[in-house]
Formats: sequence, C-alpha cells, structure tokens
Amino acid sequence: MKTIIVIGAGIVGVSTAIWLQRSGFKVIIIDQKGPATGASHGNAGILAASSIIPVPNPSLIKKLPFYLLSKDSPVFFKMSYLPQMFPFLMSYLSKSNLREVNKYAERMTPLIFDTVCQHESLAKGTGAEKFISYQDYCFGYETEENFQNDKKVWKLRQKHGLPFEVVNGNEFSNFDPFYKDLFDVIVKCKNHGKINDPGLYVKTLCDHFLSQGGELIISKVNDISSKNLNDVIVKIESDSLIANKIVVATGAWSKKILKKFKIKMPLESERGYHVEYVEPNFYPKVPMMLTSKKFVITPMDGRIRVAGLVEFAGLKTLIRKPPLNLLKNKIKDLFPNLKCKEKIEWLGHRPALVDSLPMLGYLDKNKQILVAFGHQHLGLTAGAKTGRIVSDLIIGNDIKLKISNYRPNRFMN
Ligand SMILES: Cc1cc2nc3c(=O)[nH]c(=O)nc-3n(C[C@H](O)[C@H](O)[C@H](O)COP(=O)(O)OP(=O)(O)OC[C@H]3O[C@@H](n4cnc5c(N)ncnc54)[C@H](O)[C@@H]3O)c2cc1C
Repeated sequence: MKTIIVIGAGIVGVSTAIWLQRSGFKVIIIDQKGPATGASHGNAGILAASSIIPVPNPSLIKKLPFYLLSKDSPVFFKMSYLPQMFPFLMSYLSKSNLREVNKYAERMTPLIFDTVCQHESLAKGTGAEKFISYQDYCFGYETEENFQNDKKVWKLRQKHGLPFEVVNGNEFSNFDPFYKDLFDVIVKCKNHGKINDPGLYVKTLCDHFLSQGGELIISKVNDISSKNLNDVIVKIESDSLIANKIVVATGAWSKKILKKFKIKMPLESERGYHVEYVEPNFYPKVPMMLTSKKFVITPMDGRIRVAGLVEFAGLKTLIRKPPLNLLKNKIKDLFPNLKCKEKIEWLGHRPALVDSLPMLGYLDKNKQILVAFGHQHLGLTAGAKTGRIVSDLIIGNDIKLKISNYRPNRFMN
C-alpha cells in the first residue's frame, strides 16, 4: 500500500487525507499544532459559492486612499512590514482591473460553485455532516447608491450563472428582524451554505480519518526532500519519515517549507480577525456580509461570529488591537442592545497569492511533491473540492477542470 504524507491539518489537508484514505492509501497527516489550528479554525463559516470577485478589483483602487487614511478602514497595514511586502503589494494592486477580475472569476468558479455538495460528499459517513447547512448568504447595502455602485459585481455573477435575489431592506426585516433598519438593499445569494463551527467540523473530519486507520503526528515539518524516484523524506522535529508522495497543505506558512525548491511564490498572509459573542441575547437567522465594512456576521451554535477585515502584517506579528476594536465598535454601534456572556477574539492567516488563485498540482518533474494552498478568503469554500482534486491527481483520475490554471510554477518567467 502506498504511503502519502499530508502536511497541514486545515480543511485542505484533512479533505485531501480523507479522499486519499477512501481510495485505499495509507495516509499520515502532520501538523505543527494539530487539526484546525490555522485559518480553518476561526473563519466566517460561509460556503461562498458565488464569491468570484477577488480583493484586488477596480473598487480597491478607488477606495485605496480611504483604506490607507481612514480610522474606519477595514484594511490595516503594519507600517514597519510594508517595505518587506512592497513587491507583493505592487503586484497585487496591479491585478485590480476588470481583465484580471474576469480571469479570476473564470478560474475560481469551478472550484467553488458546487461547494455545498462537495462538503456533503466529504462529510458523508464521518459524523461531520451535522455542521453543514444550505443557507442564503446575504450582502447588506446601507443605501441604494452603494448597491448601484456595486452593480458591475452583480452583473459578473449573473454572467457566471450564479443566482441571487435583490430584496428591499424593510421587507427583509420581517424575515430577519436582527438586521432591522440597517440596510436599504439586501442581495440574497442562492445555493450557498454554512459550516456551523468550522474548527470543530475539521476536527470531526480528522477524528473520522483517525478512526479509519489514518495517523496524525503533531510536529513541525522542517524539511522535505527526494530520497530516490520512489520515496520522499519528511523531517519532523525528532524523526524522519519516508513516503511515496507528499502533499503540502500548509496554508499561509507554505513559503518557508518550499523555499529550497526555488519556486517563485508571491504569497502573503491576508490576516483576518473574528470576535465571537457567546450566548447572545438575540440571534440573526442568516449570515450577512456588511458590504461597506467588509466583515460578516454569522450565527453559529451558541454564539454569533463576526469575522473579516484584512491586515498586512506578516505571520510573526501577534494579534493587534486596532482591527479587533474596529469590529467590536462597529457591532456596538449597529446593535447597541446586543449582550453576551463572553467575547472571544481571534486572528487568522488567509493564504493569498498575488493573483488570488491557489497553487494546486505537482511541484516536481518526478511527481512526488504536490502543493495545495493559497485559497485566500475561500479556503473553507474550496477546501473540500481541493482535497478531492489532489486525491484524483495522485490516483490519476480525470480532473474535470483546467488544473493548469493553478499550476505552482505560473509565476516563473
Ligand atoms: C477572518 C477570516 C474569515 C474567513 N472566512 C471564510 C469564509 O467564510 N469562507 C471561506 O471559504 N473561507 C474563509 N476564510 C479563509 C479560510 O479560513 C482559509 O482560506 C482556509 O482555512 C485555509 O485552509 P488551509 O487548510 O489551506 O490552511 P490552514 O487552515 O491555515 O491550515 C494550515 C495548517 O498547516 C500547518 N502548518 C504550517 N506549517 C507547518 C509546518 N511547517 N509543519 C507542520 N504543519 C504546518 C498549520 O499548523 C495549519 O494547521 C476566512 C479566513 C479568515 C482569517
């Protein structure tokens, strides 16, 4: 039986491991901290089937002065980190045009459009099915003018056949009074879903993987190398392991582990935050993206999770107060009567490449090392399917999308 080592136990790694195990491989997952301890723990839980607009888009350029200067900006920069990430930032901003947005939409749609079905298939028989639900994902616009300014975005979704319904804010309040008087226009995106505790979902999937004979090692991987044409070596803290193939699914941390392969990898952490309101005195019915504020309100079991924002400050900078304060102050302004038992604060690292597309596929000519990371704001959405694609690549099954769109060497000249 062939042995595959999967490095990283986020949604991408765990999905990969389960699909490989189902195909009869012996699979070992290695994670430096354990399952769902990276971005997969604290995201907003949205299975965002129609999120085909990347962060770098024409409106980013228009709003850049606001993002750089306003104390209300949902985008944060750590000034001392800017020189280090300057090349990334320039290249990232250069993608803020319609041509790039269309290209992104075409390439991302096949990874996300059937997200709920993909999660259902992944979770079937694992005990994690209970976390998945079909749910509209709503976008709230404070004014009609704000909605009109975003019309191009909705036209693009229409062009890609992604269904949505535009409703009046007052009408919507009858259905979900939580959002009463906040929005003039609400767009309800159809065929979406929610994971009702993304961290526990991934942990439950991982528990199932272990119960089926999989192995989990908690250790940092320090090095990977090829031993011969059949075997690769993975060096962990106190040991070396041999496998037939390895899959690197280490999210925002992937640059370091792959440095020696000299692949050009313009990868940054798009840091994001959440504040959870545990046992709140009232709940929303549906998740809502507050379009002007760039965060999402998601009802989850026993709490409301408010998650989003973007911060550029690298992997090493600890959790910072200004983004958290922004989230908390906005929620206080919008919902002055919201009370809760406890507030929980969290920082996560979204893995983002300059073109906002993941890296997916073999890294080497010998087909021993595969990579699967870089899903930025959509890693939960695309994670289940990504694992299945990686497993299909290893088995040699037909892949029903153009895998070269995500090739790891696409930034090489
Ligand atoms: C605030 C916020 C809100 C979000 N909301 C959503 C949302 O609603 N919907 C959505 O689809 N996505 C969302 N995302 C994005 C999503 O969470 C990520 O894209 C996704 O979790 C990435 O999964 P991953 O498996 O690639 O990486 P991770 O979950 O980060 O897992 C990588 C793992 O690799 C391990 N690792 C790293 N280096 C090593 C090493 N050297 N050795 C061993 N292990 C290592 C880490 O410990 C970690 O567990 C959000 C993200 C944030 C921050």
